[in-house]
Amino acid sequence: MKIYRFLWEQKELYGVLREGLLYPLRGSVFESSEIEDYCIPIGKVKILPPVTPTKIIGVGVNYRDHAQEMGRTLPEEPLIFLKPPSAIIGPNEAILFPRMAHRIDYEGELAVIIKKEVHDLDDEADLKQVILGYTCFNDVTARDLQLKDGQFTRAKSFDTFAPCGPCIATDLDPSHLTLKTFLNGKLRQSASTSQMIFPVYFLIRFISRIMTLYPGDIITTGTPAGVGPMNPGDRVDVQIEGIGTLSNIVLRVREAEKA
Ligand code: MG
Repeated sequence: MKIYRFLWEQKELYGVLREGLLYPLRGSVFESSEIEDYCIPIGKVKILPPVTPTKIIGVGVNYRDHAQEMGRTLPEEPLIFLKPPSAIIGPNEAILFPRMAHRIDYEGELAVIIKKEVHDLDDEADLKQVILGYTCFNDVTARDLQLKDGQFTRAKSFDTFAPCGPCIATDLDPSHLTLKTFLNGKLRQSASTSQMIFPVYFLIRFISRIMTLYPGDIITTGTPAGVGPMNPGDRVDVQIEGIGTLSNIVLRVREAEKA
């Protein structure tokens, strides 16, 4: 099922989408929840980012073809980094081009949403119990600053650099989903998640052995080949089979302040 987080009559709700209608959930989406018997047309609500995580863990160079295009050797272990939760925006919100950067890139990615608190998962752990679902993610990166700094924090942490959504798709097999990124409607990235160097379940086990994962935490699993720059006025769509499309536009910081 597809679970949306949305704003309706000043309330933040989770709801399940059925035939264009959102049926709110009563109780915690991370524990047990029941579906209410009333519904709201999806066009009447503001869709919010699917979660408010304690952290977003990114994975660098997790597709062979992207490693090639970046001139990187294949990692022997996952290369992880953090993005701050303050960078999150939802569907149709604007990615702001920072004054400090000269080039910002889209990176379409499959993101995992954690369901329960876990740490140090063993090889036998049932990962399906740990995952609430999957969403689309754009790991926006100031490429010039990433190269200049030699590490990722500044380049990946600007406000608005973590668009995600539009929903949490449960019951998906993450091992062979088609992922596509479009810039102004033109296809720029097209891959299968089967091309990941370290697959989703491996990543969750690996990260849980480093840090405790909490309900709502996001792991974004890396981008395939085809990354490229976005400019003010551009629109970028990340589309993943079984989830849907995450759309955002790019604005210069100054334009957004005027709007
Ligand atoms: Mg990335």
